This record gives sequence, structure tokens and C-alpha cells, in this order.
Amino acid sequence: MKSSIAIGVMALLVFALLGGSPAEAYLMDTTVPQAGGCPAFDRWNLSLASPLNRRWSTSLPLGPPTLATVAALGSAAQLSEIEQVITDSFGAWSGVTGTTFNATNYPGLIAPLAQVSAASSCSNDAENNVDGLNTICFNQPSMGFSSGVLAFTRVITADAPGVSVGVSATAAFAGQILDSDTLFRPDGQATFATPAALATSPGAYDLESLLAHEIGHWFGFDHSAVWRALMFPFAPPPGQFLGSRPTAQAPDGPLSDDDRTGIRVLYPDPNDAVNVGAITGRVVPANPFALAAIPAPSSGGSVTGIFGAHVVAVDADTGAVIAGTLGGWSCDPSNFVVQFDGSFDIERLPVGHSYMIYAEPLVGLATPGDFSDALNDLCASDSAAPCTTPAVNTNFNPRIRPAVP
Ligand SMILES: [Zn+2]
Repeated sequence: MKSSIAIGVMALLVFALLGGSPAEAYLMDTTVPQAGGCPAFDRWNLSLASPLNRRWSTSLPLGPPTLATVAALGSAAQLSEIEQVITDSFGAWSGVTGTTFNATNYPGLIAPLAQVSAASSCSNDAENNVDGLNTICFNQPSMGFSSGVLAFTRVITADAPGVSVGVSATAAFAGQILDSDTLFRPDGQATFATPAALATSPGAYDLESLLAHEIGHWFGFDHSAVWRALMFPFAPPPGQFLGSRPTAQAPDGPLSDDDRTGIRVLYPDPNDAVNVGAITGRVVPANPFALAAIPAPSSGGSVTGIFGAHVVAVDADTGAVIAGTLGGWSCDPSNFVVQFDGSFDIERLPVGHSYMIYAEPLVGLATPGDFSDALNDLCASDSAAPCTTPAVNTNFNPRIRPAVP
């Protein structure tokens, strides 16, 4: 059968603090089913015993200028030092409570990885080539790195059941992830240090922060506009790292609440349902005629709400950002038509708390271009129900409806 896949590429950029809005959200990537249907979250097939097999390239040179470690170049200890960073990066995501994609259910998520040479792994992931193997590469010179890009992850998903790539599992549903590969900049223009080597490696980026971010893409996430989120599209400055270092008690230390909420939504634990709730709504312009100039997204359709607003749930007592999302669309599973009606849906919020919800235009440090996959993959020209995704609306003034006394 024809191999029909969707390719998402997300790059982690160097940090550039230019000012902007203080908090902007977890966001899933989606795939439109080829046969028509609502956009499906990209995710692994947890009905498989081992949904996500991983490997990493030990291609030499593993040392400077690309990688900084405490252990001696080429030693077994050096491989262990790098391997530990990889294990902890997966462990950050699989260590979140309230999900099923965890290390208890799937020990392979934090088991030692296969170590493979460049010749047998990363070269298979060169441009226009996917092998169905999930690989972390430190030496893949053929892939182009734009200026400022430290690392990027390419995620391949199926848009129909029965699809596979290379040696991947055969997809059981549209949106199933078939291959994820992370490539670090290999040309010496950036150095990545393990936690042990970070303090003594001037100018080096924290490998753990960057890799845990890229693994977030493996799990199915786009970027988040929350500054503190691990999935924020910009890396911390050299010498700094995000959150807390993982510990046995808190393996998810590097994550923010926004990241944790996201993984709970993507791989929810049904036993946790009594502890969480959802806040939904629509972001609409005060003057609906403001939308009249936006082209109709599909035959008979119209844009009836703000598309791409950043909607954030804040704990009213602590002021902590718990989760956010980019609102703007809904899809009725009975007719499979995507409506650009300004809808948002923030799920898996802990119950027993009060939340403030605010909406803001996506005009901060993170801009619509940092979310291109999530914002562009809601329509597919070759699907049974084609449509055109409207441009993100960054030109509205948030107003809050006064509370009823
Ligand atoms: Zn990224």
C-alpha cells in the first residue's frame, strides 16, 4: 500500500530574550486522516508492548567541540555519562503522575539504549530518508541546520491505518507516530555539555534541557508558549538549565506544570479522571464583523472566532501557570468538519483549585512561526474534507466579560 505519511520538523533555537508577553502552552501536533475526519493527536500506540524503541548514535567524535563530558573521550565512562542524560530525559516525561505512558507500564522507556554507529543509524535518517528507527544523532552532517538552530526533531506520523515506514510498527490509527529522530548540531557551532560538565564548559548548552525538550517532540508535542515550559521553542542560555535536575523522587523535575498537564492529556490515566477537570470556551471578537475579511476556510464554512489565541489557566491562589493552549478550532466527530470558531479546551486540570483564564494574542517571544506544525496541520488538501487553515489572529484586544455580582 502507498506509504502515506506526514512529516513534522521542529527546531530548538538558541535563546534570545527580546521581551514580550510574560506567559504564553502545551500544544499537541495533529494529523488529518487521509479518509477524512477530525485532526488526530500525534501519539504512540500504547497497545503495543514496546511502543517506542530507541537508539542513539555513538558516532565519533563524541568529544569537543560538539559534546563536553567529564569522562575521558572515547572511554566507556563517557558513553555511560551521555547515556545517563538520555535516560533522564526520557524519565522526565515518563515520570509524570497521571499518565499511562510511564516507566512502570513500559520499562523500555528508561532502559539502556542500543548504541549504534553513525554508519548504521543516522545516515539512514538523512534528508528524504526515514527508517522507522527512533534515533538520537550527534553526528548527522547531511541535514541542514539553519543559523541559530541547536537541534531538531523530525516526527513521522501515519495518516491512515496500515501505514508503516522502514521497520516501524504498522499504524493502527491516523496520527500514530512511526519514527522520531533528534539531530544535534554537529558542525562545532554549538557545544552540548552533560550536567556534570556544564559548569566547567564555558559557552556550552545544557544537553539534558535540550534533549528533554526534543523528547517532548518524540512524545507528540509541538512547542509551548509558556516561557518556563520545557517545550518553549528557545533553549536556556549557555551554562543554564531548566527546572530542577531529575531525582529518583522527582524524575520529572525539568518539566513545568504546563508540560505535565500536556502529557496527562496526551496519554491520560483513566484512574486519574476523578482528580481532574476541563475548562472550555471560545475566544470571540467583541465585533464579529472584524472576522469578515478572513477567507472562508472551506466550502460553506466561515471563521467565527479568534484563531491561535494563547489561552492560559492560572492557579488563582498561587498565580502559577498550570497549563495553556492555542485555541481557535473545534471538530464535530459526526460530520468531520473543522470549525474555526475560537474554541479552546484545557483538560486535566487538578480539581479543588480556582483558575483564572486569560487569552492573549500570540505576539510574544514565541510567535506563530514557532508553532507552524500545530497551526498548519488542521487541514490537508488531499483529505476527503479539504479546508484551508486561516492565518493566526494576532490583532485582537483581550477583553474580559465582567463578573456577575
Ligand atoms: Zn522544539
